[in-house]
Amino acid sequence: MSKPPAPRVLVVGIDGVRYDYLAQVPMPRLGEVGAAGFLVPVEVGAATPTMSGPCWATIVTGVEAAKHGVWGNHLAGNRLDVFPDFTTRLAALDGRRTFVTAGWAPLMLGVDGGPLFRAPGRLSYIAPDADTPQAWEAVDEQVTREAVHVLSTDDPQASFVYLGAVDETAHFLGCGAEYRAAMRAADERLGRVLDAVRARPSYAEEAWTVIVVTDHGHVDAGGHGGDTPQERTAWVACSRPGVPAGAPAGVIRHPDVAAQVYAALGRSIDPHWTLDGRPFPLPAEQPAEAHEASLTPA
Ligand SMILES: [Zn+2]
Repeated sequence: MSKPPAPRVLVVGIDGVRYDYLAQVPMPRLGEVGAAGFLVPVEVGAATPTMSGPCWATIVTGVEAAKHGVWGNHLAGNRLDVFPDFTTRLAALDGRRTFVTAGWAPLMLGVDGGPLFRAPGRLSYIAPDADTPQAWEAVDEQVTREAVHVLSTDDPQASFVYLGAVDETAHFLGCGAEYRAAMRAADERLGRVLDAVRARPSYAEEAWTVIVVTDHGHVDAGGHGGDTPQERTAWVACSRPGVPAGAPAGVIRHPDVAAQVYAALGRSIDPHWTLDGRPFPLPAEQPAEAHEASLTPA
């Protein structure tokens, strides 16, 4: 009797990637995830500032800012003790192995009201050595190597890998050629992490859910926090084992990401968590007539 495959989840967060630019800038590895599942725009909740702190908090806790209490990039006053991120909750409640790697300090350290990730099973913070686009590219490179190393040699059930250089580049230089180059570099790094997952010796006995998500967009000149469609439109891509490709039959929102992580691991969502998100809906079924027509030779 063969064992059912072991569920595993990888979430890759790429900060500040405009949805409209995805149609212009080749990101083939992100495209792979979308082609195996879906890639859809996500509107940042109307009550949520289009800032990294609140958006990432919503994505990884599964609750909106009214509950987690992160309203800006200074995280003080938050209620993350009541509404923890999924890596902390899975480690604390279930003793599951979880892993986070990132270079943006408030996600990882007790600075600026952080950390957002309070107690994952394994945590790798990569400090930037300067505040320049080049330094943030170097951080993303080290984050990628760390993710490849951990996913090759350890067995986290749920992981969060954060790439921040695209967003930093927009803040320094606007959404021009350098921003597009940073998007391509992030895609190449995403690809290396995906390759590391597929190269795992135990990959054949595992069932991987992959989620790639951005938190907000940018205005053309670089910058966010406002209400323009360019800032408020984020996106989520996801491929799920056993679920055919296709757009989900329902709107996807940021708090759904954490809910989907729990669902992918077979972890029932306790009503006391009062999540605002729900697992991603399945794709809409193809109409039977269309299916039959496709089988009928012309
Ligand atoms: Zn951001």
